[in-house]
Amino acid sequence: MQLEHYIGGRFLATEEEKWTSVLNPANGELLAEVPLATEVTVNEAVAQAKQAQQEWALVPAPKRAQYLYAIGMKMQEKKEHLATVLTKEMGKVIEEGRGEVQEGIDMAFYMAGEGRRLFGETTPSELSNKFAMSVRAPIGVVGLITPWNFPVAIATWKSFPAIVAGNTFVWKPATETPMMAYEMAKIFDEVGLPKGVANIVFGSGGEVGTALIEHPDVKVISFTGSTETGRKVASLGGQHLKKVSLEMGGKNAVIVMDDADLDLAVDGILWSAFGTAGQRCTACSRVIVHKDVKEELEQRLLEAMKQLSIGDGLDESVKVGPVINQKALEKIHYYVEEGQKEGARLLAGGRILTEQPYSQGHFYAPTLFTDVAPDARIAQEEIFGPVVSLIAVADLEEAIQVNNSVQYGLSSSIFTQDINSAFKAQRDLDTGIVYVNAGTTGAEIHLPFGGTKGTGNGHRDSGVAALDVYTEWKSVYIDYSGKLQRAQIDTE
Ligand code: NAP
Repeated sequence: MQLEHYIGGRFLATEEEKWTSVLNPANGELLAEVPLATEVTVNEAVAQAKQAQQEWALVPAPKRAQYLYAIGMKMQEKKEHLATVLTKEMGKVIEEGRGEVQEGIDMAFYMAGEGRRLFGETTPSELSNKFAMSVRAPIGVVGLITPWNFPVAIATWKSFPAIVAGNTFVWKPATETPMMAYEMAKIFDEVGLPKGVANIVFGSGGEVGTALIEHPDVKVISFTGSTETGRKVASLGGQHLKKVSLEMGGKNAVIVMDDADLDLAVDGILWSAFGTAGQRCTACSRVIVHKDVKEELEQRLLEAMKQLSIGDGLDESVKVGPVINQKALEKIHYYVEEGQKEGARLLAGGRILTEQPYSQGHFYAPTLFTDVAPDARIAQEEIFGPVVSLIAVADLEEAIQVNNSVQYGLSSSIFTQDINSAFKAQRDLDTGIVYVNAGTTGAEIHLPFGGTKGTGNGHRDSGVAALDVYTEWKSVYIDYSGKLQRAQIDTE
């Protein structure tokens, strides 16, 4: 299968472009060939988006929203197909693939509803016979840069609010996962989204990403990926005075207090730590446990981890799929070796799986460390794999301090039966998302998604908050007094 860019309502690839292969991380099967765009292709996509935006902005928002309803319906109709492509391309187990597609469907319907809201404010003027209001105005062409670990959901968090608000977009998906973007292009085409509103260009971050950020007609860059790349995007975007929204890495923790329901905590940790093979931005990679229940929790976790079946995510019985590629495997293993050198005790896993049926894919054994120092590298840096570090603490205050001691601030969770501890924790945990008696993953699309510190720069994906990225506030004053009225002066 050969993929093509989607530009101005046409599928195309040019002879001059280089091509790369998309491989199934579970078994190395060749899934597709994908063209890698040059700056010329990016310029064409931006030109098409710019041209389309002028008309699109004038389409009434409820009508723009009709396209989102149609996109949501189409995604629903194709849900099983989309989930299968997602699992083959990215590796997450099919149940999670279905969940991710559902997230996109939910986002379509939710943002379609915004077509009849997009609320601004009306407020009294300080002067008589004068009307004051604020409205959301579209910004123009938006550049979207997305990672491979949620190849469809993240793109919907960004593109749907962008288009309902009257913008058009050029989307650069991760080089590892172009197939889901191609599926979305087909859907945009099938529902008859006006040409140029949605444009998808495949290619590397260095070339296509940079070209998008530097293009003078791209007014907003919405990026999700690692903190390291986010820094580069912010810096280049800053030079070009772009509005840049960044959603970046995480080092998320589950806190387990001495009064916690331990069975529930084990379920939450397993789901958050080993789902998507630990490759979620919200993955639990630290468990901060009260010292009085540490040993009990270790034993229960070890027991439960034995039940985790590993394999090709298309097999419904599999709980942990492959990681994305060889480089990821090596990075995970490097951290595991570092952890051991730093004195952490390895309780389970800690190896690349090379035996059958894993030999053709990229599989890492679910890994549990204990006696991890809070400042150890495995407790501070994002590993992005199925590796969890247990850190023992004496009380809630220490747990919160350890949670907050990392450079990231995406998600955190506390398991406790005590309402006072729960409320203190939700106030003091310095993360954009806090869960009580649930793991660190499980965000719903109608709340803001994002984090503090090294995870974000104050913007949010998802929820109504996402509209702030893709709109400018315009304040409008209408004076119907028939005379000059000066604000702050003629108020007596
Ligand atoms: P990544 O390596 O930073 O890549 C993300 C995207 O940026 C890709 O499309 C990549 O293109 C592109 N890119 C790379 N270099 C670039 C440059 N110099 N200029 C512009 N774009 C560039 O991240 P990843 O490995 O795909 O994803 C994993 C990371 O994403 C983890 O850190 C995870 O925590 C984070 N993440 C965060 C959230 C959140 O909402 N906070 C959600 C999901 C994932 P190529 O594919 O061509 O390299």
